[in-house]
Amino acid sequence: SATSVLADLRADFPLLDQSVNGHPLVYLDSAATAQRPRVVLDAERAYLEQRNAAVHRGAHTLAAEATEEFEGAREAVSRFVGARPDEIAWQANATDALNTVALAIGVASRGLGGEAAKRFALQPGDELVVTEAEHHANLIPWQQLAAQTGAVLRWIPVDDDGLWTIEDARAVITEKTRVIAFAHVSNVTGMVAPLAELVELAASVGALTVLDACQSAPHRPLELGALGVDFAAFSAHKMLGPTGLGVLYGRRELLNALPPARTGGSMITTVTMEGAEFLPAPQRFEAGTQPVSQAIALGAAVGYLTDAGTQAILEHEHALAARLYDGLADIPGIRLIGPGAGRERAGLVAFDVAGVHAHDAGQFLDARGIAVRVGHHCAQPLHRRLGLTASVRASVYLYNSAEDVDTFLEAATGIRPYFGV
Ligand code: PMP
Repeated sequence: SATSVLADLRADFPLLDQSVNGHPLVYLDSAATAQRPRVVLDAERAYLEQRNAAVHRGAHTLAAEATEEFEGAREAVSRFVGARPDEIAWQANATDALNTVALAIGVASRGLGGEAAKRFALQPGDELVVTEAEHHANLIPWQQLAAQTGAVLRWIPVDDDGLWTIEDARAVITEKTRVIAFAHVSNVTGMVAPLAELVELAASVGALTVLDACQSAPHRPLELGALGVDFAAFSAHKMLGPTGLGVLYGRRELLNALPPARTGGSMITTVTMEGAEFLPAPQRFEAGTQPVSQAIALGAAVGYLTDAGTQAILEHEHALAARLYDGLADIPGIRLIGPGAGRERAGLVAFDVAGVHAHDAGQFLDARGIAVRVGHHCAQPLHRRLGLTASVRASVYLYNSAEDVDTFLEAATGIRPYFGV
């Protein structure tokens, strides 16, 4: 089965082979950050040991080799998400990529960026739409943009399980909607957004779509070009790659019309004392020295994910998520957040343990070698809506096994008895 084949990959991940607090590590926090296989660590090290140089500059051999490898990584990443290389701009992380889009729309709204930027300019009364389940990274930049421009931020509300439907979206999206920003997969509920329907709805009112693909790009086949989203963002560190690197995807004609909010070296054609002309995308969004070794490592990471097979990864995680869900549902006093039994859920399960604070539950699990995430997972409005201040989240990736899930479930059964509730 896909599950057993993928679990064999575990040996490729040096970090997973250790004990924590006297127990073999069970790492169930990949939705926060994923571990890296040896080929990714080796790729970055080999680059640093043998070819490290300033890219896109310098006449020397190392600089040429570095540039070739750096641009090769861009090509690999673009292929991985069904995009063209010039539709991929390197950013510091997904948060940075989402800010880039919001800041650029702010620049356009101030009348800067020339003729091409006018299509993005917001007027007071225009509307920006998000969901109530968004990660703060895909919420606060839009709040800021609304405050700067007089646009109104509206949101698609969630139900008591943290879920929303395309009908809920239809009730909020109108002719006034200019931007719809939403997570492909929620990092708290594991719900998969009705992407195709939402893109169609956006097109029918002429709104831009901004996809937070942080929890989808690492875990499922993704064809951004074919999906028709306008912009997308994801982080390298959640997909077997390094920290310090995020990806901004934009449809080519949009990315070239969008004005840069960050300016400086490496993104210009001509500079005078009075002003500057900017390079086309993606360089216009890559001011300053770039995360070169990180990009090269991400290139290796998407190679690894491609070899494992994104469809196989998805099926593996669906199976583990169902095992997690069913097991937790059997434990008295555990309230599961997100899609119910039999409905699609990405490879993560967040839950509340009655009478036990999430941080105490996390410490209890950590003492048994089990790493989970506790807190609001950067989704305070969602937790508030669910009547919670925090939750516990277990998340899986291709290197997790059914045994990991079972070890976790056995420990989770002991949480409430341990705390005497
Ligand atoms: N959106 C979602 C759905 C996420 O899960 C995360 C990471 N927790 C982010 C955005 C932000 O990613 P980063 O911190 O890497 O910028």
